[in-house]
Amino acid sequence: MKFAHDFDASLRKEEYPPEWLDSAISYRQLKKCIKKVQKELQELGLDPHILEQLWQNVNNNDRNITTRASPEEPRSRPYHYSVSSGVATLKPRLTVAIDPRDGLPLDAWLSPETRNFLKGLPRSPRTEKQLSFSAAAGIDGGTTQPMPLSVSEHGNPVELQIVDPTEAFETVEIPLTSDSEFFQILKRELDDLNRLQETKQKQLTVQINKLGSDITKLTEMASSRSRAEVEAWREIFRLYVDSQIFFSTSEQDAGTRPCSTAQKQLEDFSNGIADKRKRLRLSHNGSTALKTFLYINASLLHFMKFQEINRTALTKIMKKFDKQTALHMQANLPPALANEHFVAHDLAKAACFTIQEQLLPIVPQINDYLCPVCLTISFKPVRLRCNHVFCIRCLIVMQRAKQDHCPLCRGGFVMEACSENLDAKLMKFLKRKFPAEVKAKQKENQHAAGVDRYGEGYDKCAVM
Ligand SMILES: [Zn+2]
Ligand SMILES: [Zn+2]
Repeated sequence: MKFAHDFDASLRKEEYPPEWLDSAISYRQLKKCIKKVQKELQELGLDPHILEQLWQNVNNNDRNITTRASPEEPRSRPYHYSVSSGVATLKPRLTVAIDPRDGLPLDAWLSPETRNFLKGLPRSPRTEKQLSFSAAAGIDGGTTQPMPLSVSEHGNPVELQIVDPTEAFETVEIPLTSDSEFFQILKRELDDLNRLQETKQKQLTVQINKLGSDITKLTEMASSRSRAEVEAWREIFRLYVDSQIFFSTSEQDAGTRPCSTAQKQLEDFSNGIADKRKRLRLSHNGSTALKTFLYINASLLHFMKFQEINRTALTKIMKKFDKQTALHMQANLPPALANEHFVAHDLAKAACFTIQEQLLPIVPQINDYLCPVCLTISFKPVRLRCNHVFCIRCLIVMQRAKQDHCPLCRGGFVMEACSENLDAKLMKFLKRKFPAEVKAKQKENQHAAGVDRYGEGYDKCAVM
């Protein structure tokens, strides 16, 4: 009762668009369905208590068989519930083992009425060969023989049933209809959620790409404005990466953040930007682009919240299904449902990857272009044969000291470097993207070259 209420309240509170709400898990309807399954089972004399007893037997049986080659599927199950899937449908099956000699269930827990009812159901016969083994062999004795696999009769190639050649009982399938209804509804809703997620992801990708081309235009304008714009976006993206809004890389809580934490991180990021707003000196178009950037993140978070609450609803309803029917789906989704994008796919990861690929490289961060020796911009950049890049100043110092080993990989590539090792393309890129840093470094290099030639304090003499 409580979760149904919370679920409704949270769907209302977040003001999701109507088409999202249409796709949400219909928790209450599924709950009613579970009641129907329960009633159906009770009418067959299979109330949760009885099924629980049968389940205990299944467990004991499984535990006795520890030497089997394949641990995935228990071997001889006196009672078995599984959901197989076709292209568009999910078909649950509840089977109970019966003795082939008299058609009665093998389990003593069942009432006489239920046993009689089961006797009347159509049996699923084994082959002659399988039936020729003695009746007692398959039920509780372990075996180490390799067991052939066969595709279940419902034709799902994924779910294989293990057929033990010593298995000596037949099964009957209990006719239930409400559980099919339950899984049909669930399948339909997960399909809807899946489609919704695909649409949202496409939408986000389009928005991010568009924003990317807007920011590129702003930072590559011919006017002097572009410099301020580059600086501003560099700061914005630096803050953004540091905020780790949707993911954490810290040791304690690495991975995707829960929505509540992501929301807090996003708020901190927005506040941080607001504090620096004046200093960022964004143009009018720049401010619009920043608003769009914040909007994209907020809208991603909004959708993630919707998914999060639906995932919780899904887990809860499956737990309820097990608890009230004792059919032991074990709160696990059938494979056909678990593979749905909605369950398995991480939208935040996909969206953040697009941001990382499309937006962040527009304004590169200086940290990615530092000389590993002097930790200032590697200008002019010299690329050694090992592909490691140093500033020309540090290379000269290393060559003078006859130090041939690359400080990063220890390869002997320093002494051979000459003017051909200058990376012209990178040089041009650095000049364009980091004009202030390049200018400062050039000045330093000139000074150092002057000191080399005329000794310390040469430039002071020049003033005189
Ligand atoms: Zn250097
Ligand atoms: Zn190297």
